[in-house]
Amino acid sequence: MAGPSAVSTYIVVGAGVFGASTALELVKAGHKVTVLERSQDGFHSPDAASNDLNKIVRADYSDPHYRDLAKETISIWRRSPLLSRFYHETGVLFRSGHNSTEGDAYLDVGVARANEAGSTLLEQPHPGKKLKPSAYHIKSGEEALRCFPPAVRPRLGECISKIGSRAADGQQGYFNARGGWAEADHATRAVLQEAIRLGAQVVSHAQVDEVLFDQGDKTRVVGVKTADGRSFFAGGPDGHVILCAGAWTRGLLKRIAPEQFDAWAPMAPTAQCVITVQLDEEQRRAFKDLPVVFNIETGFYCFEPDEHGLVKAAFHCEGYQRPLPDPSIPSTYPTFTTQQDGPVDESLVSTRAAPRVPADTPQRLLQELGLVYPELAKLKIDSDRICFYSESEDENWIIDYLPRAKGLILAGGDSGHAFKFLPILGQLVCARLGHSQVPSLTPHQDRVFSFAYHTELARQNERVTSSSASASSSSAQATLRGRL
Ligand SMILES: Cc1cc2nc3c(=O)[nH]c(=O)nc-3n(C[C@H](O)[C@H](O)[C@H](O)COP(=O)(O)OP(=O)(O)OC[C@H]3O[C@@H](n4cnc5c(N)ncnc54)[C@H](O)[C@@H]3O)c2cc1C
Repeated sequence: MAGPSAVSTYIVVGAGVFGASTALELVKAGHKVTVLERSQDGFHSPDAASNDLNKIVRADYSDPHYRDLAKETISIWRRSPLLSRFYHETGVLFRSGHNSTEGDAYLDVGVARANEAGSTLLEQPHPGKKLKPSAYHIKSGEEALRCFPPAVRPRLGECISKIGSRAADGQQGYFNARGGWAEADHATRAVLQEAIRLGAQVVSHAQVDEVLFDQGDKTRVVGVKTADGRSFFAGGPDGHVILCAGAWTRGLLKRIAPEQFDAWAPMAPTAQCVITVQLDEEQRRAFKDLPVVFNIETGFYCFEPDEHGLVKAAFHCEGYQRPLPDPSIPSTYPTFTTQQDGPVDESLVSTRAAPRVPADTPQRLLQELGLVYPELAKLKIDSDRICFYSESEDENWIIDYLPRAKGLILAGGDSGHAFKFLPILGQLVCARLGHSQVPSLTPHQDRVFSFAYHTELARQNERVTSSSASASSSSAQATLRGRL
């Protein structure tokens, strides 16, 4: 264990939310930190999951552990001098979708979880303000409309204006006012920028390809080597290498520890689909301050426009198999057309995902956007994008030492829901390191973030022995995933 007085050198690989947050927490504690990132400017790469217009921030998880963590995190989003300007508490409106009994059940759980006694005590309001109302069922179209600013109400689709009525196929909904969205790219950059201000060294064009072991103790990791041959060393009483490589983690593990991870690793990437449409100036102003809208049935969700009038829409689902961008070529994010037919290395993708991204996905996203805001369905798609989750077996993250590699920690397995925790991810990593400036991991966190836990799960799911289970039985339908 090392406190703030024991200066160590930490190497953080990757500058997405896990890497940036970890780097900041470590330098705040007085340690030396070197962040190695394959991108051209040292910040998260254009194809990183953290590089995005916006991400949902909410605490109504079905899992009470993430719910409580999210409530504490949202309090930081509201109050942090560094991050509050990137957080927009517009609320999140969930609708069940049509004729969806599963969706209805999810809504009941969502409201109950958001309001559970005790956990609400974890929430702190914006400075000088009161907390907004807690989550509630929407019982009528009028109530649904009141979740939106008056100017936009006449421009809403029937899937909103008729929530709770027979005309919308009995569709139900709930509104969680104590959530919203955060500016993903801006906030992640700000965190790394703050780490740099406090002394972190960031090295760009640094694609880590190898870990370096101590000459004497061959199980002790002392540094890393990049693809272009540069070596970087951790040092001091508590120096560590911390891998935060997002969806590239599985491939990286295969390269750095082939004997352990050749056949499997307890996380695998899935491709997810995103589009943006460009509003004109009148629309940009009119559609401001909208809640995030989420359809439980299809996994569709959309945001208000950003300051340039771009509206993002996406599906949150089991995802697709698709080759990851080559780690040696940090480029812009892949789109629906690029790499579509590239070969898929089955040992590097999730076998639970469907084999291909359906070609009509952008149009389906636009159609769903039109159900919420009919006039937006007439716009042209401005951009489309494939973005990758790194899925663990059960959507718990992995923050732990790699087995049989002292000094090497992995922080990832984000499973499509880690962004909102940017303010506290670094604390969790430091807690795993045993640092005294942060609260210790709870017994629950200690267990569910551990490699042993995920290995056991993988065994139970027979992934260790049959890592290439048939993908044909996998469904890409959105499921009632609890954690986004
Ligand atoms: C479409 C989409 C929507 C999402 N929506 C939400 C949401 O609404 N709310 C939410 O909370 N979460 C959301 N998420 C999940 C969230 O984005 C991720 O959980 C989070 O960004 C993962 O961060 P990361 O640091 O693990 O990975 P990344 O952000 O991908 O960062 C990994 C970094 O490591 C670098 N790297 C990789 N390999 C190497 C190497 N060998 N050497 C050096 N550098 C390397 C990469 O260049 C990259 O910059 C969404 C994700 C996607 C894809």
